[in-house]
Amino acid sequence: MSTRLPVATPPEVRTEAGKLFQEHRRPLSITLTLHVLAAALGLAGPFLLGRMVDGVIEGTSTTRIDLLAATLAAFIVAQAVLTRAAIQRSLVLGERVFAQLRETFIARVLGLPLSTVERAGTGDLVARTTGDIDALSRTVRFAVPEILVALVTTVLTLAAAVIAGPLVAAGAIVGVPLLYAGTRWYLKRARAAYLWERASYATLDGTVTETVDGVRTVEALDMADVRIQRIDGDLREAFAAERRTLFLRSVWFPTAELSYVLPVVATLAWGAWLVSAGHATVGQVAAVVLYMVQIVDPVDRLVSWLDELQVGTSSLARVVGVAKVPNDREPSGRSPAGEDIHASDVRYSYVDGQDVLHGVSLDLRPGERLAMVGPSGAGKSTLGRLLAGIHPTRAGSVEVAGVPLVDLELDQLRREVVLVTQEHHVFVGTLRDNLALAAPSATDDELRQALDSVDALAWADALPEGLDTVVGSGGHPVGPAQAQQIALARIVLADPHTLVLDEATSLLDPRAARHLERSLSAVLHGRTVVAIAHRLHTAHDADRVAVVENGWISELGSHHELVEHGEAYAKLWESWHGRPAQESTN
Ligand code: ADP
Repeated sequence: MSTRLPVATPPEVRTEAGKLFQEHRRPLSITLTLHVLAAALGLAGPFLLGRMVDGVIEGTSTTRIDLLAATLAAFIVAQAVLTRAAIQRSLVLGERVFAQLRETFIARVLGLPLSTVERAGTGDLVARTTGDIDALSRTVRFAVPEILVALVTTVLTLAAAVIAGPLVAAGAIVGVPLLYAGTRWYLKRARAAYLWERASYATLDGTVTETVDGVRTVEALDMADVRIQRIDGDLREAFAAERRTLFLRSVWFPTAELSYVLPVVATLAWGAWLVSAGHATVGQVAAVVLYMVQIVDPVDRLVSWLDELQVGTSSLARVVGVAKVPNDREPSGRSPAGEDIHASDVRYSYVDGQDVLHGVSLDLRPGERLAMVGPSGAGKSTLGRLLAGIHPTRAGSVEVAGVPLVDLELDQLRREVVLVTQEHHVFVGTLRDNLALAAPSATDDELRQALDSVDALAWADALPEGLDTVVGSGGHPVGPAQAQQIALARIVLADPHTLVLDEATSLLDPRAARHLERSLSAVLHGRTVVAIAHRLHTAHDADRVAVVENGWISELGSHHELVEHGEAYAKLWESWHGRPAQESTN
């Protein structure tokens, strides 16, 4: 069962956004000032044109008109220069803020408690790292600057219209209710509709891909008709979803357009009456009407980016939410002075109120090899993770030389005890980077020794650029066995005194597995090892065997002792070996 990572509440998102604005206040105010200046210069156009109209009507000298025209040209050039500077600055600022968001996010992800990552699984985390960060990048880089600029321009243009002809400008109000109602109507429905559309495409994609991938199975089982029906169904769904979003657009777009044109027409008609009644000049009406034409662009941008802002906010909530995971380690700065690990009365639950370990106590003897056996679901992996300090205990404690594992910093914990699983990742980077993760200060000689000890030096030296060869996705290909050897070499470098082994080699093909077993035994040499055994011969070769059943250690002793004992382990051994227990011991 996987638990989802938390999502931030709206107030938390607002606090986070507020902090970002606060941190970048200076560059933000410079950018905004530039935009305000540019927008203000753009407002001179209609005003000057209005003066020109009135001038012509009053029969002013042509030199005065020419002067007004020249001023207008100067304003346009100045506006262009300022706009360029403003846009450049806001783009740079957007990139900077986004980079900061992404870095903070990655730092938070890497700082997540191991137990959370283990439990939540990587799906949710990957979705947040890719989809949500993408959505956020659009919002931060484009939506926020566009909205700020559009807002400033809209307000300034309105103010200019009021100054140019207060009475005439009143006519523009007719557009507001229509735009408000239309936009509200659309925004309320759009999100769900677009989500539906996206989901229906994804389903259709999935069905088609699945059908093509499994074409042999489809044909062998004569399932063509079933699959076609399924695809038809998905298509109908996608069609319906698309019709829905089309309907929303077909209502909203004309409404918005109408509310842009209406103020223009209204100010014209209303202005004409005002002129005839002697309350305004033709020039004033011309200026205000031109402002109404000019305001369409910022208002349109404002309205269309609002939608994006909604998406961005929900992504920010998911990205910020990662920080809400409580930390489960409390590093105390104490460092253990020994290598003996004790678990006492350990209890653990994944789901509140349902313990899967019911008070397990276990003392590891330094240097011993202990095998854990037992039925699937008995709690072996859970106990292994607790012994490796990945999960904190619910009750009881796991300590190394008297220091609880959860009191150790992660990099210190790694020098004490390491969990070895089948998961081994090769990171994009040089082979050296990949190894040095475990020991940042290791010299090349030490890295090579580590490779040598896991039998990997030969192929590593044969790489085109040795330790400098770039491996990982997109780099020099590295096979699964080699990847595992890199992981083992990391362990040699981290040099923990205790290892917990969870099915370390079972996913590999037998030949590679045999080879790896040699590398592995070199790594195990001289360390305390807890092996979660899925093959009983591991148990047979171990110094001690712990039988885990229903969240308890039901038997603990050497292979021979337990076989003599004649209980659970003896029965397991007998059934695995196919002979009576007494004969099989040797
Ligand atoms: P084993 O390794 O012996 O097969 P596990 O330690 O994996 O046993 O599981 C012990 C119990 O804990 C099982 O009942 C299992 O269903 C439960 N369990 C294991 N992992 C999780 C998890 N991530 N979330 C919830 N329950 C879990």
